[in-house]
Amino acid sequence: MTILRLALPTPLRALFDYLPPAGSQSAQLRPGQRLSVPFGHRELCGVLVEVMADPQSTDFELKQASELLDPEPLLPKTLQKLCQWAADYYQHPIGEVLAAAFPTRLRKGNPHRGLTIPGWQLTTQGKGLGEGALGRSPRQAEALAALRQQGPTSGQQLAAAGIKRPALKSLQDKGLAEPCEISPAHCHASARPGLALNNEQAQALQALIATSEGFSCHLLEGVTGSGKTEVYLQLIAHCLAQGKQALVLIPEIGLTPQTLARFEQRFDTDIAVLHSGLGEVQRERAWEAARTGIARIVIGTRSAVLTPMVDPGLIVVDEEHDSSFKQQDGFRYSARDVAVKRGQLERCQVLLGSATPSLETLHNALQGRYQHHRLTERAGSGELPQLTVLDVRRQPLQAGLSEALVKAVGDTLARGEQSLLFLNRRGFAPTVQCHDCGWIADCNHCDARLTLHRRQRRLRCHHCGHSEPLPGSCPQCRSEQLLTQGVGTEQAEEFLRQRFPDTALYRVDSDSMQGREAMQALVDQVNEGQPCILLGTQMLTKGHHFPAVSLVGVIDMDALLFSGDFRGEERAAQLLTQVAGRAGRADTGGQVLIQTHHPEHPCLQGTLSQTYHEQALAMLAERLERNLPPTGNLALLRSDCTDARQGEHFLQTLRHNAQRQMPAGVALIGPLPAPMQRRAGRFRAQLLIHGGERAQVHRAARLLVSIAQRQKVARNLSWSVDIDPQDM
Ligand code: ADP
Ligand code: ZN
Ligand code: ZN
Repeated sequence: MTILRLALPTPLRALFDYLPPAGSQSAQLRPGQRLSVPFGHRELCGVLVEVMADPQSTDFELKQASELLDPEPLLPKTLQKLCQWAADYYQHPIGEVLAAAFPTRLRKGNPHRGLTIPGWQLTTQGKGLGEGALGRSPRQAEALAALRQQGPTSGQQLAAAGIKRPALKSLQDKGLAEPCEISPAHCHASARPGLALNNEQAQALQALIATSEGFSCHLLEGVTGSGKTEVYLQLIAHCLAQGKQALVLIPEIGLTPQTLARFEQRFDTDIAVLHSGLGEVQRERAWEAARTGIARIVIGTRSAVLTPMVDPGLIVVDEEHDSSFKQQDGFRYSARDVAVKRGQLERCQVLLGSATPSLETLHNALQGRYQHHRLTERAGSGELPQLTVLDVRRQPLQAGLSEALVKAVGDTLARGEQSLLFLNRRGFAPTVQCHDCGWIADCNHCDARLTLHRRQRRLRCHHCGHSEPLPGSCPQCRSEQLLTQGVGTEQAEEFLRQRFPDTALYRVDSDSMQGREAMQALVDQVNEGQPCILLGTQMLTKGHHFPAVSLVGVIDMDALLFSGDFRGEERAAQLLTQVAGRAGRADTGGQVLIQTHHPEHPCLQGTLSQTYHEQALAMLAERLERNLPPTGNLALLRSDCTDARQGEHFLQTLRHNAQRQMPAGVALIGPLPAPMQRRAGRFRAQLLIHGGERAQVHRAARLLVSIAQRQKVARNLSWSVDIDPQDM
């Protein structure tokens, strides 16, 4: 008798046993296949995890699976193992982890559709034709040569190589070529020649190529503009030449069209692009192309780390420090850490790159677990910019800008160059207050203030999405003296437009920029090189390349300096270094002006007086002293409840029940209210697990999770576990 053990998309941390569907043969059943099964009153789509033959206990009634959905497993074995590892490490239900590896349509149990790729191949006659036989029509000769050299080739790839349909049609009319269907085995990749590398780049590439067989993990730490991407491209070319696929994870494709464009220009191959901005059909197509090996390069955001591939030889994680690699809800995983594990399981090389590596990664590199390669100078012509603090205490500010910064913008424009101003707050002003009675516009659902969006005449909550019209007078005392405090991008934009009426100004934040096209259009326009002002939030800092920007202004450094989180300083240093890195990318040289009321703040001083690397070493020493990550380990249990006391009480019960079995060296801290206790009408609390040994912290988390699972949980309460939490 055969029993099937399935993972189902339920929040239960368990596998479910079923009997094989009617008429199926045991030999057909393999882990990684999807099956449709009855579950309660529903049909669910599950993934087969284990086929058990002749189990001992057959004394309970098992239900029968309804249908085998895939004749072949869609997930390769290593990816199944990776999902199992991730479910175990992050203590998340396996069914939900496996579901994350499938496109939505397949996740829901719809039939798998293969990809057919139209292409062209030579006929026997075409193959036999002598060189130079088509001398009088160079286009056709070119097409013939390409097909002879590459064999059957997809239409897309031919088009990318500049071979047009009419030429192929003519060959077809002469009986020399014919349309055909391309199989993955026919999908090849070729790379155009790269740039001549400088010494540091060449050294890094050589060391990477020398270890490209089997698993190894590397940190490429290179200052902004040092040519890391060029190293990735050349290493990928090597990987493709070995007949393997490459996976590239980047923080946000929608915002970095340039990165994608560089890959498309360099490689003659099908590139599968996977990100959340895609439609379902496109996404599934890209997934299938990666899975079958039609796509030799896979580029995607966080979730792409679970894309099935035939034979990955390299995984690159660009901007590995970026917090978007950590999923903050549901299956709370770090795509960077899963990527490293995937490299181990697939036995392939992993390359983490950043100008500002996370302390976790830097620590691993310093400990010798990762090989460490450094690029300390800018490639090409750019110089690293000069950083200067503008002490704005007692200075008149207009829309948050000091006269000195405004003058610097004016001078830059006068020289025909571009300025980039960074302000990490959208809207007009973050606070609206009544001048007569002190009333402040708060969100009714969150512990947060409402942001004024003046053009829309609305108050918006940036945490829960709530929005309401701006009242004409104070709801408390009817006074019409409503004042704003603080400055957002909308206000700075208004001021700058008045001050520089003849200059193009581009505001870049999530209100003004929607989608990849908008960002692409902006980048293209800015890079025509006319003097202009770029004003924006963090969206502007992510890996863009604006050669004509020579001045970077940080309007409100103070907002970055004061954070309750122990990672606050690390984040501020990374952000400042990345923003500063947008300046002086070409030969114009660069200047960075940082406005602050706290010129002596140690974090700011740290960034000014040292390189990021030196500052990171100092921060690491401090973490070591406080036994915090990456030295110590953390896990977090969170509750989320309509009632504040009930949520904390739930965590308190867990703590109480776990107390006596706590592993040694593990401390429980809390339960405490979350930093923003109330959000979207729900009260959040957390119980922190802290300890020196990772295994012990995980054991403690497992214990708490198992206790939580045995609790009767009220409908208005939900809880979750977060291993290696980022935000707390
Ligand atoms: P990073 O990824 O480290 O920010 P990039 O790879 O984007 O750096 O390179 C920054 C700029 O320098 C790009 O314009 C790139 O074309 C150029 N560049 C990179 N490597 C070289 C090189 N070896 N010679 C000349 N220019 C280079
Ligand atoms: Zn009032
Ligand atoms: Zn809110």
